[in-house]
Amino acid sequence: MLLTRIYTLFFSLLFTAFFSNLMAMPVKDFLPQGIKLNADIPLPSNTLGFEIGQRHLRHDQLLSYFTQLAQQSNRIKLTDMGKTPQHRQQLLVTISSPENLENLSKILASRDVLTKNGQQSNSQDPLVIWLGYSVHGDEISGANAAMIVGYYLAASEEDKITEMLANTIIVLEPSINPDGMDRFVNWVTTYRNAAVNTDANHIEHHQSWVTGRTNHFWFDLNRDWLLLSQQESQHRLKYFHQYQPNVVGDFHEMGPNSSYFFQPGINSRTHPLTPIKNITLTTKLATYHAKALDEKQRLYYSEENFDDFYYGKGSTYPDINGSIGILFEQASSRGMQQETVNGLLTFEFGIQNHVLTSLSTITGAWKNNVELKEYRQDFYQQATKLAEKEKFSGYLLHEAKDSYRLNSFLAKLAQHKIKVYPLTDDFDFKDKKLAAKHSYYLPLAQPQYRLIKALFNQQTHFKDNTFYDVSGWTLPLAMNISAYQLNRTWGLELADKAWQAPEQTKINTLAVASYGYAFEWHNFLAPKLLNNLLANNIKVRVAKKDFTSLINGKSHHFDAGSLVILSGIQKQPNWQKLMLTASNEVGIKLHEISTGLTVQGIDLGSGSFKNLIPPKTLLLGGKGISQYEAGEVRFYLDETLHIPLSIIDHAVMNKIDLSSYSHIILVDGNYNNISDRVADKFKNWLRQGGVIIGQKRGAKWLAEQEILAVKFASKEQINALFDDSELPYQEKETLASRKRIAGAIFQTQLDTSHPLAYGYQQNTLPLFRNSTLIMEQPQQPFITVAKYSPTPLLSGFTDKNLENRLAHNAAIVAHNYGKGRIIATTDVLAFRGYWYGSAKLLANSLFFAKTFSAPVK
Ligand SMILES: [Zn+2]
Repeated sequence: MLLTRIYTLFFSLLFTAFFSNLMAMPVKDFLPQGIKLNADIPLPSNTLGFEIGQRHLRHDQLLSYFTQLAQQSNRIKLTDMGKTPQHRQQLLVTISSPENLENLSKILASRDVLTKNGQQSNSQDPLVIWLGYSVHGDEISGANAAMIVGYYLAASEEDKITEMLANTIIVLEPSINPDGMDRFVNWVTTYRNAAVNTDANHIEHHQSWVTGRTNHFWFDLNRDWLLLSQQESQHRLKYFHQYQPNVVGDFHEMGPNSSYFFQPGINSRTHPLTPIKNITLTTKLATYHAKALDEKQRLYYSEENFDDFYYGKGSTYPDINGSIGILFEQASSRGMQQETVNGLLTFEFGIQNHVLTSLSTITGAWKNNVELKEYRQDFYQQATKLAEKEKFSGYLLHEAKDSYRLNSFLAKLAQHKIKVYPLTDDFDFKDKKLAAKHSYYLPLAQPQYRLIKALFNQQTHFKDNTFYDVSGWTLPLAMNISAYQLNRTWGLELADKAWQAPEQTKINTLAVASYGYAFEWHNFLAPKLLNNLLANNIKVRVAKKDFTSLINGKSHHFDAGSLVILSGIQKQPNWQKLMLTASNEVGIKLHEISTGLTVQGIDLGSGSFKNLIPPKTLLLGGKGISQYEAGEVRFYLDETLHIPLSIIDHAVMNKIDLSSYSHIILVDGNYNNISDRVADKFKNWLRQGGVIIGQKRGAKWLAEQEILAVKFASKEQINALFDDSELPYQEKETLASRKRIAGAIFQTQLDTSHPLAYGYQQNTLPLFRNSTLIMEQPQQPFITVAKYSPTPLLSGFTDKNLENRLAHNAAIVAHNYGKGRIIATTDVLAFRGYWYGSAKLLANSLFFAKTFSAPVK
């Protein structure tokens, strides 16, 4: 026994020494041996001053290497796709023969026309391979591998590479998430010791809140390909559709104790809109990855986990665009090296594996280029045929009151190359007359037919009920845009040209001084305007009831929730100019009202107008709090509405004077460490008039503290919904997935007479939830703002037992606490930055919490 231990120690020391030496391995040793490399092409170490894998390189170092590479090689072309929120460059590296690079835009344009028109592509048209690295900034081996791949393709003098490049365009996105990359690299570099330390507990391997996985706004960019809420995704997508890759590689890392994964993943969980042939081709390419890893005796697996269901991921979005997306996952050393169940794992080892599979992807795709090109052709040729088989011909899209939300929706479709046509004449649909200027038609018969289905479908039944990510994401529901299926097109008058982003015009000019000004709350950016005015000391009042005023001799109806600015009470000397600038910036119409007397409803001097104050909001952050949900609130309030937000670590709450804050937001997270003293502090602050907003476990914690007067269904009650007494062992995982709500959309009934629902037109509102937290329907009146419909599931998977349990229960509740207010929800209101439909409820909670009063007994 002792002897074994000594042996183990001896070998592990030997291994450590071996791997330590490997850390200085020159780039040539990563590449196929015995090949001729062009000596004029600079090695990464020339620019960096160290070998790849020796240090965690920063984004600027990566940029400077590729810049040098492009200067020395006529096979490399660099494109600046745009800047990240932290102003780092999003680099795209195109690698091909010098001739192809010279004619690149022409080649890509002709390829696009041929494919989308369903014509047989010219066999001379190049194959396009797109390799994207390290979308999760703390999965950094990919970005390092990209430099070696770039060097190899530029420097190799092998005939097979020259021939391949003459017929292939290879695109590298070396760092998909530059802001997250540098956040992570700074962490590792800060804590890395000089002496080799393989201790998995060392702080180097454990990032703080927030991690480098996410981008500047703490969003997972690998969920954003479909939703496009982040500028990195918007910048990239333009090029993705320009290049139209045949194959896309997406390089990640997973837990240190894993080995290496490549797709195919779990085939039963592939989205049904993806053609079966996609899996066949993925499987074919997998043989090349296996061969490359076999030669080095590397451990790997496929098919056991990860899926291609949710189209918002980098390896899945290509699948709905005629391409083959392939996910690669390398066990992560996180920092420089870690002891794992598979032995010592070094940073450099991970880089090697990603180099091997990058090259096997290129080889595999090149060897199968004819089949891949045919697949892409068929994908688009079938699109029109499939569209013809549908029971309806297209969608009529309509939103009458919020042009910003409607245009944002249309902009997303345009970014996905989906064509939508403006109506030129009003259209009668069922019992409605839809005004042309708020209506658009989306025909199904177009090349992006499958993607339209992916964005609009409301599937609720599935072959396999386990989901790696959300199961429902229907875009019109999330953005609360009416989308009617049309089965007739007669009577429909359409413009020839598809929708394009409207030019910004100065909407307000305000020539004469008026008694007052009013604007409506329906526009998505109305809270931005309101906050801007309040922050500039302009007095703004909200109408608690409807009124009708004469505007330019015509009566105009204003819903409750409309805002008025009365000239007679303003103190800010510059107020009219500030108001004009602010309203034009967001494109919101200011209505000039010449008299305080209304045609109908409350007069402008009535007590039914309430003075508003600018909110001062505190968001609890820190370890244990969901960085995604905190990021969503930050993105919506700070980035979208420019409402200042103080983010404070929950660990220091005992030191914080709350008196200057008007609102506290608790998103999902673990609040068990909040002391009784802090909870008491919250209660006192509430009694004196504070407003607290709790989402998911934030809401549940408020209920546990008896701040929120609502009961949550217990875990036992949820478990009791499932009869598991007779289930065999093999059903264990299936049962677990039935008990989950991975992410689905539910219909709620919204009380539009409640001030928190100002700006909402319809009494139904789709909400997104990804937990089984259930608030019971409160017994007290007037505190339920939204409740689930009798059969609430709109899109995605939820077990019928859970759906029934949700029905009729509360989704949003709000009530008084002393002079303060509590607002709580179990849903994710600003989910992934694209839930424009429900995000507004957050803004309403900031501005109108004191406009309602609902005491509990
Ligand atoms: Zn990842």
